[in-house]
Order: sequence, then C-alpha cells, then structure tokens
Amino acid sequence: MKFTALVSFLASISLRYGVNANDSPAALRGSMENNRRALRMQHPCTLISIETQLESELEENSGSSRDRMYNGSRRNGGARSLYDGAEQIVCELQEDDRMAVGKFFVPFSGIEFSKFLNIKSGVTTFMSEGAMILDGVMFVPDGAAVEFGSNEPSNRRLETSRTHGIKKVLVVRADAKDSGTTADKKTLSDKFFGTYGDTATLKSQYLACSHGKLDFQPFQGTTIGGAYIENGVLDVTIDMKVASANRYDVADAIEDEADRLVGGLRDQFDHVMLCLPPGIDGWIAYGYVNSWLSVYNDHYCKSMSTMVHEIGHNLGLAHSGKDGSAYADKSGMMGYSYNLDDGPLQCFNPAKTYQLGWFDDKQIEIDPTDGTWVGTVIGAADYANAIVDPNAKVVVKIKSGDDNDLYIGYNRKKSMNSEVSLGGDLLSIVEQGEGYSKSNYLAGLSEEETKTFYKFGDTNKNLVVEFVGRNSDDEAIVAIYFDDCVFPECIARSPAASPTEAPQPPTQAPVPPTSPPSRQPTLRPTTAEPTLAPVIAKPTSRPTRKRMYNISYNSSRNRPKELLNESFRADLGVFNVGANQVKQNVYQWINTAKFELKESSNLPSMYTNVNLYGTSSVQVNFWYNAETMQNGEGFKLQYSTNYGSTWTDARNFVFGEGGFDQIEKWNSVKSETFEVTQGMPNAQIRFVGETETNNSDSVFYIAGVNVYGVMQ
Ligand SMILES: [Zn+2]
Repeated sequence: MKFTALVSFLASISLRYGVNANDSPAALRGSMENNRRALRMQHPCTLISIETQLESELEENSGSSRDRMYNGSRRNGGARSLYDGAEQIVCELQEDDRMAVGKFFVPFSGIEFSKFLNIKSGVTTFMSEGAMILDGVMFVPDGAAVEFGSNEPSNRRLETSRTHGIKKVLVVRADAKDSGTTADKKTLSDKFFGTYGDTATLKSQYLACSHGKLDFQPFQGTTIGGAYIENGVLDVTIDMKVASANRYDVADAIEDEADRLVGGLRDQFDHVMLCLPPGIDGWIAYGYVNSWLSVYNDHYCKSMSTMVHEIGHNLGLAHSGKDGSAYADKSGMMGYSYNLDDGPLQCFNPAKTYQLGWFDDKQIEIDPTDGTWVGTVIGAADYANAIVDPNAKVVVKIKSGDDNDLYIGYNRKKSMNSEVSLGGDLLSIVEQGEGYSKSNYLAGLSEEETKTFYKFGDTNKNLVVEFVGRNSDDEAIVAIYFDDCVFPECIARSPAASPTEAPQPPTQAPVPPTSPPSRQPTLRPTTAEPTLAPVIAKPTSRPTRKRMYNISYNSSRNRPKELLNESFRADLGVFNVGANQVKQNVYQWINTAKFELKESSNLPSMYTNVNLYGTSSVQVNFWYNAETMQNGEGFKLQYSTNYGSTWTDARNFVFGEGGFDQIEKWNSVKSETFEVTQGMPNAQIRFVGETETNNSDSVFYIAGVNVYGVMQ
C-alpha cells in the first residue's frame, strides 16, 4: 500500500471525528465495497507487546532469525515496521472503542518503533488526537501529537495477583471454511487442564512449579452471553478461509465470534487461549505481555511447554536467553518451547522465579558491599521440603548497582524440574534487568566451582560466586564475596551471620519436649558462624546443617576435599552398625547417632568407609553430647587401614578429669587430624563407646560428622 498517500489522507480527515471513510479515494486500498470506517479513539488504549515464537525457533533449530530476535529487540529501536519481527506492539482498546472498531487489539502503522522503547506492556497507555483507526489498524500521521500515560495503580494490583491464585481459563477452538482446529474440545481440555487424565498440562505444570500458588482452572458454566462452557473449551465457527489469511485476522475473527457467544470475552476469564486451525505455516504461538490473550498454531495447543511459555508472557515474563540467542537458556520455560505433548518437565530460571514471587519467603536480595553472604540454596522443587535447611533460599538476587542484577538458584533436577536440559543440579547464575526484561544465562557451576565477575556492577571489585558444596543432594552451600575478602578466611559481618540468627545455647533453651517437634527450629548459625567465633563454646541447635569447622585452605592445592558429611537425617546415613546399640535419634532437636553404653563386652560402635585417594591427612569434625556419663567412660574416634582388622585411636574422649566433664553440653571437635598412607582407597573410621562397667546406663550422642582429606 502507498503509505505516504494514506498518511496524508488521514491527516486530511483527522480533524473530523469518527469519519466514515466510504468517501475515501478508491485508489487507496482498492475496492471499497466493505463498509470500512476510519475512527478516532475516544479513550487512551493500553500498549501491549506481543512475543511471537516462530517455528524456526523451536527447540534446537538454528538459524539467523534467533539472533535477530535477541539483538533486534525494541531496545535497539530503529525504524522497523511494527509488523516485522517477533516482537510487535499493539494497543488494547477500551470497550467503547473496541465496539466501534470491532476488535480488542489494534496494530500500528506510521509510528516508529523507537517511540515505544520505554513502554511497559499492559501499563503504558497511548493516545493521539491525530491517530485514526482504519480497517483495524491505527495510523499515526507524521508529526501527530502522541501522549503516553499509565494505568499503573490498578495494574500494579493486577500484577501481583496475576501470578497468584486461581485463574479461570477459556480455550477456544475454531472451524473455518477451509479447516478446523485439529484437536476436539475433549482433547484440548485434557491437554490444558488434564480433564481426562493427562498428567503434564498447563495446569499441572504451573501448579507444580508454583507449589500450588497459581492454578489455571477451566471455566465451567454459563457465560453472560448464554453460552455454556464445558471443561474450559469453547467451539466457534468463523466465516473465512484460513489458508489465505494472516494469523492476526484469523485470531481477530475468533475473538469476535467468541466475544459474541460469551457476552464479553475479556471480562469473564483471566486468560483466553486461542487454538487456530492449521493452514498458516511458520509460526508456533504468541503471547500478549502482561495481558490475557495467547494464540497457538493448531497442534501447538497440545504442547505443554508452549502453553507454559506463552502464559509466561501473560504473566509478565520475557525470554530466557544465553550467548546472545533469545531462547537458548534451556534451564527454564521462557527459553525454547518443544514440540512435545508432555515435556520437558522444567520450571523457570532464577530471574524468572524471583519475578514470579511464589517463593518470596525464601528469596533474598543481597548487596555484596554489605559483606560476604553464605547460605543454603535449594531448588524450587524443594521449596516445601520439610527436611532441608529451613533458612534455605530458592533465589538469591545480587544487586549490582547497574542495569542487570544477578540471580542465583540451585537448578535441582527432580520432580517437576526433572527434565531440565541445561545445567541440571548445577548452580545457575542468570542476569536480568528490572521489569519486563530478557534474562541471560551466564553459568552453571558444579560443586567447588566459582564464577568471578570482574569489576562487578559499579564497585570496581571482583565478585565471586562459589558453589562451596552440598549439605545434601538438595542443599547447595553458596558463598558470595568480593575477592579481596575470600571465604572462609574473611567473613566480614556476613548478613547471613546476623546476631538475630545466632543460636541459643541449649542450656538456656526450654526443656525439650519428650517427643521432638516435627519441625526443626529456625534458629541456627550459618556456615560463617564458626569462623566468627573460633572458640565454639556454645552448641548450635543444628550442628549437622553447616560447616562448623575452621578448614584452612589458602590455596586450591591443599584445599581439603570433603570425604563425607553425615547429618543423620536419614537414619545413620553412611555409617554402619553391627548388632549393637547405636541408632538414629533426635536429641535436643538435633539429628544424632545415639550410643548406649551397656556392657563392656558389647560396646556400641559405628563405622564408615572413606576413600583416601589423593589424601595424606584426614580431618574429622563432629559434635558430641552426653546425656548421662560416669567418670572414666566415654568414646573413641578410631581409624583402620586394614579393613577393620585393627583399629588405631585418633583420640579418646573420657568423661571426668582431663576430659569432657559436663553432661547435656554440646562439644565441638574441630579438625581432629591423623596422617594416613596416601591413596588408601578403603580406609575406615569409627566411633566406639568406652566403659569398664557392666549394666551402665550412660548415653552419648554424635552429630554432624564431617570428614576432610588433605594432600599435604
Ligand atoms: Zn516467547
């Protein structure tokens, strides 16, 4: 079309209001047989970005279009047509205007993309006195005054509620003149909601990923317009051929007919999802950002990952990229979609997870200039897991002071995240800006790996993120510090070690109940605590949950290697007991191995194997406490390098003079060290009780055993 001619035509009629364009020059757009009207908006419309996924961007497909999408975003501005590319801007009309124009969303022409650089989809409003809507397209003449506004107050409420609660969803399938949506109503209801037993659906995956905080339910019942909707799916018939149309025209026709049947499409449902009949190739789906509509190309209405992705746009999530490619972060649903019915089971990367706010009681924003942060990070899958560290975080946000903040999460590969294909069980590091912003996957760290950010943010210092180790498969210990204050030697007022979180000595604690509480107390020191207080006089409420020891590692060369870390949460863990009296027990809220001294001829003991390959010296750390004890009784820490034939004492712990002398007191043993023959693959260590008497009723407990090997 001759665009300049149209603009001048529009300029000429723009002084009038609601002009009927039937008298416009026929040369403008060929035949005028349709009743085409040029209209002026009466109310500001709301700007909405649409994110479109093209088939060339599916899964592993390569191609320049992906790069174009990432780099050619509206942040780059330029005079790109608003119809081009994967991201486009439309304006959602208010109801009066919608009824006059006949559609909810109108695209633009005649205004440069760069004008929309700073809009916030779903929030920023647009009004232009000179703009005209002709055939459902908004033409903004050159030089026309344009006003941007905001419906932020109402939308801010909307935004928080958008990611939480029960949402009513309407899925619409359509029969056109030449084709119809392949899946029938029953199939669609099953794919979206699991109505007939599908276990990996839009509904199931959001429920699982949000731990029940976001529930997409099928609309059920009679609508205002009288249409009865069963299991969330509506059938419409449209009077057009799909093959010769573009996808927006088909979607407009479906919306219009659905709106007529239900009596108001946008007021009765939280989300409307259109399943277009096949016939237009090359695209997968598109989602309206911070809005209610998403549109799918026929069989992609059966792809769980596509639904979750497009609804993610509705919820205000932008893409998850990596290495300059818009979708290449395959650690979450805002990367690629997959042409699969039920998979992959995965959730969102840490930046998106933070934005969704489902775990805001277990996420933290830290400013690294406040000091070292050390703590436990768990996967989203373990958000509700009762036996992980109750202070663990699902996301740690690191404020950078510049455009992009860092987000750290443990990409635990299990349950609803069990099919994640990038960085499973690694520590994810992702950067993202504020608001609707693409994220960039920077690293997946394995245990003991670090990632350094040189001249981080505006600090001119180098920030280190370290995956220190695991407390269990589900718990990653993470340290975040500047390299002028390396963990663990330098812990400067760690926010994680704030006094409010410091433990109370058990002697001051209330008398423990006879049966242990089901939930561990939240009071516990952090991993940083021991280095702050080298003399550990006070026991902690959960010694098993942390590294309590001064491990000296000045260089990576002789850095201790963790050989075992046993917290006795699952029975006695790696320790073996024979037919004797050691058993797992919760004592003073702490998981322990309980030793009952009974007969001098049948001493309680437990042992475990350690592989000393690459190790010449062993450091053993643990806590112990005696419930009752007689002078001379106690226990020994021993090791064997001949498969248990003989045992060598590493240290004796004798109650009474010269030994420990208080009952009901947690004692810490740090770095009890013994030398071993280097490389012994199958050495053993054991704890064994000591008593000279028979019928002793003495009892002691061992907790939090942690063994390191050092190559000297
Ligand atoms: Zn997308």
